[in-house]
Amino acid sequence: MVKKIDHIGIAVYSIEEALPFYKDVLRLKYIGTEEVHSQQVKVAFLSAEETKIELLEPMSSESPIANFLQKKGEGIHHIAFGVNDLSSRLVELKTNGIPLIDEVPRMGAANFQIAFLHPKAAKNVLVELCEKNDGGERNES
Ligand code: ZN
Repeated sequence: MVKKIDHIGIAVYSIEEALPFYKDVLRLKYIGTEEVHSQQVKVAFLSAEETKIELLEPMSSESPIANFLQKKGEGIHHIAFGVNDLSSRLVELKTNGIPLIDEVPRMGAANFQIAFLHPKAAKNVLVELCEKNDGGERNES
């Protein structure tokens, strides 16, 4: 089902403040920062070869990341696995009784289709499945 760990998501209060450690100290390659309005979150991606680090900063108090920071503080938010045919994987998981947050893929950052599994499926780890959207169409609504 899973090809690789695509990225690890880290919740931060401020990307500006968090970035220098990953970029200048660890010297990961900075890919860029973008805003995902549907989730009210700003995300910065850095890459360590195949695997990326995703820094997530809330854009408003409505953001799920704001909620996370309030409850748990900064730290690892989710692990994202790259998959092929995300829609079919979700149907397969649902059929097997795995609790899902997203039953259908939605648009994430960096032109990826994403879906989250419920943390109770994975011992309190929030798992994201993601697939590069090859259609090239942007839809963040
Ligand atoms: Zn992610």
